[in-house]
Amino acid sequence: MEFNILTLCYLIGSVTFILGLKMLSNPATARKGNLIAAAGMIIAILGTIFLYEQDGQKLGNYGWIFGGIAIGTVIGFLSAKKVKMTAMPEMVSMFNGMGGACAGLISIVEFNHLVKTYPFGELPVTTVLIILLGLIIGSVSFAGSMIAWGKLNGKVKDFSFPGQHIFNIVLLFVILGLATYLIGWSPANPIIIFYAIFVLSLLYGVFFVFPIGGADMPVVISLLNSFTGVAAACGGFLYDNKVMLTGGILVGAAGTLLTMLMCKAMNRSLTNVLIGSFGGGNKAAAGDAKAQGSYKEISLSDTAVVMSYANKVFIVPGYGLAVAQAQHACHDLEKLLESKGVTVKYAIHPVAGRMPGHMNVLLAEADVSYEKLLEMEQANEEFPSTDVVLILGANDVVNPAAKTDPSSPIYGMPILDVELAKNVIVNKRSMKPGYAGIENDLFFQKKTSMLFGDAKKVLQDLIGEIKNL
Ligand code: NDP
Repeated sequence: MEFNILTLCYLIGSVTFILGLKMLSNPATARKGNLIAAAGMIIAILGTIFLYEQDGQKLGNYGWIFGGIAIGTVIGFLSAKKVKMTAMPEMVSMFNGMGGACAGLISIVEFNHLVKTYPFGELPVTTVLIILLGLIIGSVSFAGSMIAWGKLNGKVKDFSFPGQHIFNIVLLFVILGLATYLIGWSPANPIIIFYAIFVLSLLYGVFFVFPIGGADMPVVISLLNSFTGVAAACGGFLYDNKVMLTGGILVGAAGTLLTMLMCKAMNRSLTNVLIGSFGGGNKAAAGDAKAQGSYKEISLSDTAVVMSYANKVFIVPGYGLAVAQAQHACHDLEKLLESKGVTVKYAIHPVAGRMPGHMNVLLAEADVSYEKLLEMEQANEEFPSTDVVLILGANDVVNPAAKTDPSSPIYGMPILDVELAKNVIVNKRSMKPGYAGIENDLFFQKKTSMLFGDAKKVLQDLIGEIKNL
């Protein structure tokens, strides 16, 4: 009877997870999807704690289990409440690392059990294989995620040495060689080999992420996220736990798809992301703004006039909008302009900001209607009939070098063709480059005017100017 209820709990956990993932694909249902998946997981976890039995024995250890859950819940709740939108990728990286660490710990515990169960005999091959997969993938994901977390919050700098990629490949082969030895040859001292694999996997995770360029971190985090999913699925195999297996496989598959989509949006291969050092340290191309020629500035009052008398305005949000937390002011400007009969739309580049869907989440927070958000292809079609494009803290995603300069690190990345509009107004604080560390020709073009200042302050002042017209 209990077994059946437990199976039902796992079924609910799996179905709600799938449902939640589906709902996450639309900003309107994402919040609900997250809650539904979490509720399903709580049912599966409680089912395991209270109903799971092995050899007629329940799990017990309730003090430890609920103590751990309480500590984790408090830390998770507080950090999720405190985190700024711009620090979201580093938080995802930290949480993902914890998942990898759990998968690694499961492998360590289970291998020690196994060695005690078979003190003199050969270890069962399939079980050791699954344990080792969980250990290696989980440890790489944990160590890699910690380095990614450090890089995103600026505590860890990019680091590489000549021949690092060869070193990484050799390290990987040593790990795989030791694993094969442990599985195939049943050595007399399996524990030593096992811990050697563990330490080398941690080392591999560190050296794998160290040289990857700063701007590529979100892609790497997504890749590490898929690793954690696979490592968790190994745990599911090990315990014959259906919900862990389903959850792990779904996370693994979703992470892999997301990684591929992000690479596609930047028009780069995964290999190029992993060894290309995009946006990492290579700021040499950032050049001197003056070397590009001169740019012209526009005043707030002129901007107010140009925008108020336009028929159609496009807003291009970027990372700077998130930094300035200017989404509400942006929505206010949109409403004000619409009340004056101006059509206002938003052009959303797939990699604007620092995480997938960053701009959609940000604008949804300010209640901007989803119908107003146009994807890149649609927006590019509409730019020729647009009077004013207002760029708010975006840089790389509107950089024409992606189309015209084969030596540029972003060459080939599809961009928003804002220069097709009649007027382009760029708001940022200075002439400094964006994350890719490269100069932007758009700022020096004839139809472009620069409106310097913090996005939130500029928008608030602009709203005041338009009201006074
Ligand atoms: P960028 O990082 O290219 O540029 C942001 C600009 O915002 C900067 O030039 C900065 O200029 C300006 N800015 C910063 N703070 C403010 C502020 N308070 N007010 C006004 N402006 C401000 O951003 P984009 O969104 O255009 O491009 C995203 C980049 O991130 C791309 O290179 C993309 O490939 C990369 N990336 C994104 C991923 C994603 O999933 N979204 C994944 C992987 C990479 P200044 O300092 O002069 O103000």
